[in-house]
Amino acid sequence: MAKKELKNMDCLFCKIINKESPADIVYEDQNFVAFNDINPKAPLHILIVPRKHIPSVDHLEDQEKELIGELFLTAKKIAKEQGVSSKDGKGYRLILNVGKEGGQIVDHLHLHLLGKWNNDK
Ligand code: AMP
Ligand code: ZN
Repeated sequence: MAKKELKNMDCLFCKIINKESPADIVYEDQNFVAFNDINPKAPLHILIVPRKHIPSVDHLEDQEKELIGELFLTAKKIAKEQGVSSKDGKGYRLILNVGKEGGQIVDHLHLHLLGKWNNDK
């Protein structure tokens, strides 16, 4: 088996990325897929997922520097699209869980984007 696979057949998020499992996809580009969390912890709860199967932050390597930079730029772009940009007087929370004790359940790196708690204020 390759040291770092592009996709993992047993991984739920790889299946969503490859359209083998359903999800409410809100954004897609060459490197990322973003979809609504199935069990939202906020009125807006989106998961931003690199297409590449990287199990967690602890599995990142130097070659992923650019991808991780893009992950945050993509979060900013989606936040703007979803109407929660701080530049529009709103705001949001980004969460990245790492490993079992860090609350990570799905072993495919993903950034949680949460917001819209007070979106009409
Ligand atoms: P984490 O605890 O950081 O691994 O987050 C995993 C997230 O994936 C949780 O917030 C789950 O609610 C969410 N989740 C699990 N299965 C699905 C699914 N099929 N579609 C969308 N979100 C999911
Ligand atoms: Zn995966």
